Amino acid sequence: MATFTARCPECGRVELTADQLRLVLRRDKPGEPSKSFYVFRCPGCDDSVRRPAGEKIVELLSDGGVPSMQVAG
Ligand SMILES: [Zn+2]
Repeated sequence: MATFTARCPECGRVELTADQLRLVLRRDKPGEPSKSFYVFRCPGCDDSVRRPAGEKIVELLSDGGVPSMQVAG
């Protein structure tokens, strides 16, 4: 399974597998910055961390098998 490096505000860089990550995709308006994000529970401090996901990150995570959900707005 693919592993990803994400950043926790407490612990810094942490390694996560695809099933530890969730992508939340929001339909963006053209010309506006992406409002999509990903969330994970940090294996270090057990906090829930939410990070913005630009187009490239969304693509990378999706290709790596991270489950995603689509939300309106
Ligand atoms: Zn942490």
